[in-house]
Amino acid sequence: VPLLEMRSVSKRYDGRGRALSEVSLKVAPGELVAVIGSSGAGKSTLLRCVNKLIDCTEGEILFEGRDIARARGRELRHARRRIAMIFQHYNLVYRATAIENVLQGRLGYKSAVAGMLGRYSEDEKRRAFEALDRVGMAPFAYKRADQLSGGQKQRVGIARALLQEPALMLADEPIASLDPKSSRTVMELLRWIATELRVGCLVNLHQVDFALEFSDRVVALKAGEVVFDGAPDRLTSAT
Ligand code: ADP
Ligand code: ADP
Repeated sequence: VPLLEMRSVSKRYDGRGRALSEVSLKVAPGELVAVIGSSGAGKSTLLRCVNKLIDCTEGEILFEGRDIARARGRELRHARRRIAMIFQHYNLVYRATAIENVLQGRLGYKSAVAGMLGRYSEDEKRRAFEALDRVGMAPFAYKRADQLSGGQKQRVGIARALLQEPALMLADEPIASLDPKSSRTVMELLRWIATELRVGCLVNLHQVDFALEFSDRVVALKAGEVVFDGAPDRLTSAT
């Protein structure tokens, strides 16, 4: 079974047309799938449906073979633990240090506060430090998040996601606010997470060139519909 399979997923916000229209796609372990499309095409809506930040209106979302589209309670909490997310604007707690932000990955995203390191076991702190080390941020572990550059903030976001030991990683425009050099670093990290950790990655990207370079497969959305799903080299010849 694929790690993630969306089957004819549609989403309609109150009183509006369809933001997603019968979207089907699959993500396998170790695969990096890029979702491209212009602003308003439905990329964020797609990820939010998978992450259950919102509910889709129709269709099935199979995660590890089980439909989470209508999951509640314990089943939903299990899926959420196994699905990590990173964001365009990082969603860090800026008054807290890098390592405190990473430790949030253990507690749920709204719970980090400055000066809370004492609440964690030595083992948890060691694992958080290792996650920062993996993304090259160990030297910045005790720096406040607001003192980091954009690329460094995003790497902290990735370390926080890694601490969850996810099966699936969702990234909503992770490089849209970054310069080309930091963008490359972040894409290389996501590529490494897919290939080496066997995590499935579903990444919204505005920048088609990065999608072509780093993804195994590209899904193009237009007005909520999938208009292309295939290898990156086929996209270039199709357009
Ligand atoms: P993208 O991420 O590709 O820019 P979105 O998923 O954000 O696209 O938006 C898809 C469509 O859904 C757009 O028409 C947008 O205006 C609409 N939309 C997104 N979020 C909401 C919301 N919370 N309420 C109503 N409409 C929304
Ligand atoms: P970002 O640039 O961080 O992705 P957006 O500008 O896409 O943020 O959206 C910010 C918030 O506004 C989101 O929570 C989204 O759901 C909501 N939103 C986006 N489009 C609409 C819309 N047309 N109507 C109502 N809410 C919207």
